[in-house]
Amino acid sequence: PSPLRQPRLVAFSAPALALLGLDPPPPLGAGPDQEEPEEAGETPSRRVSSAEAELELYFSGNALLPGSEPAAHCYCGHQFGSFAGQLGDGAAVYLGEVLGAAGQRWELQLKGAGLTPFSRQADGRKVLRSSIREFLCSEAMFHLGIPTTRAGSCVTSESKVIRDIYYDGNPKYESCAVVLRIASTFLRFGSFEIFKPPDEHTGRKGPSVGRNDIRVQMLDYVIGSFYPEIQAAHARDSMQRNLAFFREITRRTARLVADWQCVGFCHGVLNTDNMSIVGLTIDYGPFGFMDRYDPDHVCNSSDTTGRYAYSKQPEVCKWNLRKLAEALVPELPLELSEPVLEEYDAEFDKRYLHKMRQKLGLVQLQLEEDRELAAALLETMRLTGADFTNTFCLLSSFSVALEPAREAHFMDRLAQQCASLEELKLAFRPQMDPRQLSMMLMLAQSNPQLFALIGTKASVTRELERIEQASKLQELSPAELIRRNREHWDAWLQTYRARLERDRQSAGSASGWDTERVRVMRANNPRIVLRNYIAQNAIEAAEQGDFSEVQRVLRLLEKPYGEPWEDDADGLLAAAAAADSGEAE
Ligand code: AMP
Ligand code: MG
Ligand code: MG
Repeated sequence: PSPLRQPRLVAFSAPALALLGLDPPPPLGAGPDQEEPEEAGETPSRRVSSAEAELELYFSGNALLPGSEPAAHCYCGHQFGSFAGQLGDGAAVYLGEVLGAAGQRWELQLKGAGLTPFSRQADGRKVLRSSIREFLCSEAMFHLGIPTTRAGSCVTSESKVIRDIYYDGNPKYESCAVVLRIASTFLRFGSFEIFKPPDEHTGRKGPSVGRNDIRVQMLDYVIGSFYPEIQAAHARDSMQRNLAFFREITRRTARLVADWQCVGFCHGVLNTDNMSIVGLTIDYGPFGFMDRYDPDHVCNSSDTTGRYAYSKQPEVCKWNLRKLAEALVPELPLELSEPVLEEYDAEFDKRYLHKMRQKLGLVQLQLEEDRELAAALLETMRLTGADFTNTFCLLSSFSVALEPAREAHFMDRLAQQCASLEELKLAFRPQMDPRQLSMMLMLAQSNPQLFALIGTKASVTRELERIEQASKLQELSPAELIRRNREHWDAWLQTYRARLERDRQSAGSASGWDTERVRVMRANNPRIVLRNYIAQNAIEAAEQGDFSEVQRVLRLLEKPYGEPWEDDADGLLAAAAAADSGEAE
């Protein structure tokens, strides 16, 4: 790792550091644990605890942990659908493994630690804003119960790099930062793509093409280390072992994506080099949790075709698994892996429906129509501009036994989530100026190159749909809009109430059922996710040298489930929950 100037700890995750056997350091800002005499004439130094100073030293990359053997990993990948050739750890430095107390091995990486052999034209650095996003989201995902790489610390510095230019043409200097990443392994699908023969489209090939010996070693290592049960069950038949491994990674990936869908998480860059070989969420870049529910939501502004849109994540991860299968030939022939790949959809579906049932509190019966109920809910959310996280949270306070006045109030809450017309208009705002768009469309008809420039047919169609939506909304007053939203919610809630009623009837004890229903909903509908604006507020404060908001947000993200917070909205959530559980007795 290349040293940084004046490293400074922004935040640490005590539970992540505990994986490495590190005691939790004292809270940041607590000051020095020993009084050190300050020398005359010295500029007053920052006084930090010795634990904090050690984290700054080692997890900035300014000093190497004893026994550490830094390395960078070579991998390839399909980026946005085409084979990109050699990529590799361009900004992450591997430090080695730590053997945890429970015997588990943890790989350590410093992300943003400077040049590696795979940095290509870039500098191997990361800036504070992207590091805070990766740090917070890694830990947020873990506490949501979703498999992920972890983040132990985030350290900023006085070293500067330029990533952007201001409008006036002046460069914007940003602080370099480093995140300590922790995972059982950082190997990816792309790790196996280094063996790829020349690609039919790009002509690019993997740097290790023809080296089956390495592929065998790497497969042995991955399966032996991370899939020990599979290794043990098929010790004598490597083909069956490889097949069982591929089945397991297919299942894990399907379940992972189902988990993402159920919290409204968009990864943003689902290239094969960002697909973990053990089924973790890996590489937090332009990710985003959806606010208003929109299946076409694209969180990565450079994804002009919407390849990695929210609704595309399941199919695109299956596509990525196919690339992994291709990279495992001949150790696993396609005739064997292809049928296994076809188990992906069923696995995804099973997990997704299971989670959706829990999110809806359908704990008693499993009905075929539940799938439709969930789909209709999402459609209602889309039509009314409802917030993904808040809607599910709010539903935890719904009950079959709501008295009419409370139910009307509840309806208002649902229908007015996108309360002002302005807000909803903003939500449906076309991303391009309509006049500009129609002009470009006209020109594009006679100029296919221009069409390629402005995006695919699908993205143009989407823009046109949004223009239509937006112009429809122009004609509505706020009152009409809310009335329209109420109609949508009324229809869905009727079905939902009837469904809950059946659950209740089939339960032995109605009150026991209701308690369990609310418990399951609270345990599956987070009251907080790392929304972009939450991360942005923390980043802006941190860029001014105030790290307290990063730490506060981390603490909130560590407890995403549970009783609604007092200060949530106007306190109605808490009040409604208390009243409902009383009424249901
Ligand atoms: P990503 O899109 O984040 O998955 O990154 C794609 C490739 O670019 C990976 O090989 C990264 O290691 C590399 N990369 C990303 N950022 C940097 C950087 N600042 N310096 C060098 N390489 C980078
Ligand atoms: Mg990556
Ligand atoms: Mg990245």
